[in-house]
Amino acid sequence: MTLVESKLDPNDAVYRHVIPAGEPWMHELRAGQYFRIVDLGGNQAVDTLFYNAHDYSDRYSAQDTIQSQGNLYLTTGTQLKSTGGTVLLTIVADTCGRHDTLGGACANESNMVRYSIEKRYMHACRSSFLKAVIEWGQGMDKRDIANNINFFMNVPVTPEGKLTFEDGISEPGKYVEMRAEADVIALISNCPQLNNPCNAYNPTPVEVLIWDGPRG
Ligand SMILES: [Zn+2]
Repeated sequence: MTLVESKLDPNDAVYRHVIPAGEPWMHELRAGQYFRIVDLGGNQAVDTLFYNAHDYSDRYSAQDTIQSQGNLYLTTGTQLKSTGGTVLLTIVADTCGRHDTLGGACANESNMVRYSIEKRYMHACRSSFLKAVIEWGQGMDKRDIANNINFFMNVPVTPEGKLTFEDGISEPGKYVEMRAEADVIALISNCPQLNNPCNAYNPTPVEVLIWDGPRG
């Protein structure tokens, strides 16, 4: 794992926002802008979707991203590809080292199946995503909630191909930073999950920062 730090200064950011534990967030990023997500409390899963701002059907594709880099994990150098072959963003710095895009987002249904029937009404990422796109009010709906990225989440794949949800490898202050290669919409569910170790059983806030790209 290679860790790469950013040279960008948080004081120069044009936008800063703390997403409370368990809450969604949605925002447009313009091509050339830099976008950082900071894991303030450590071991917090940040379920994330990206869309081409000019065509929501051209959205983040885990399959195209994995296939084009020939690796299952996301880190510095990863190009986040869309279903239409657009490079939406490139990861340019990463002090955590590895991010998941196989584990999916938690949902009321999967909480019930994986944990117990009483877990059905606990908050889940799919509901947060849906709430955010409805409030966004730009015509997105349930069909736009496709496969996501789980920043800071540790889902190692065993040599036999098994997926396992493990204790996080992130710590307070670790971050991942991307450069937008196109105008994109970012949609985050700061995961409210309490039933597996993806949030260390304690969901915490994360900070998002945006910088304008170098001028000229
Ligand atoms: Zn979740």
